[in-house]
Amino acid sequence: MRKAITLAKEGMEAEKGGPFGCVIVKDGKIIGKGSNSVLKNNDPTAHAEVVAIRDACKNLGHFQLEGCEVYTSCEPCPMCLGAIFWARPSKVFYACTKEDAADAGFDDDFIYEEIKVDPADRKIPMLNGMREASQKIFELWKEKEDKKVY
Ligand SMILES: [Zn+2]
Repeated sequence: MRKAITLAKEGMEAEKGGPFGCVIVKDGKIIGKGSNSVLKNNDPTAHAEVVAIRDACKNLGHFQLEGCEVYTSCEPCPMCLGAIFWARPSKVFYACTKEDAADAGFDDDFIYEEIKVDPADRKIPMLNGMREASQKIFELWKEKEDKKVY
């Protein structure tokens, strides 16, 4: 956790992005790390956890983090929470809470609230269309015999 917090400070000081750091550990060894790189990469998805997950998966040569622990300097936002669930580590440790982040100007509570709103009524409307055409691709997926299930 100390390393995650150091990454948060270093990333902020290097103007990479906000003060967030993350380390991923497997069998007591660091296999991935990252700091918020939204500004450096012009990438709104480059949160510390996402950067660290990408680094860890690349180093492992696998798309999942089974048996790994995530150490993040702050409680994950909804995007990172989703990324963590897709990556499937065994445990997440966090230092600051989302309330601490909100106090520093990083308030993600509105996203948690938006999840509960009907897609079309969200602040960014999410509109349904061409469902049947897209469902045909799901049919192809279901029939695909050599697919790698994840
Ligand atoms: Zn995040």
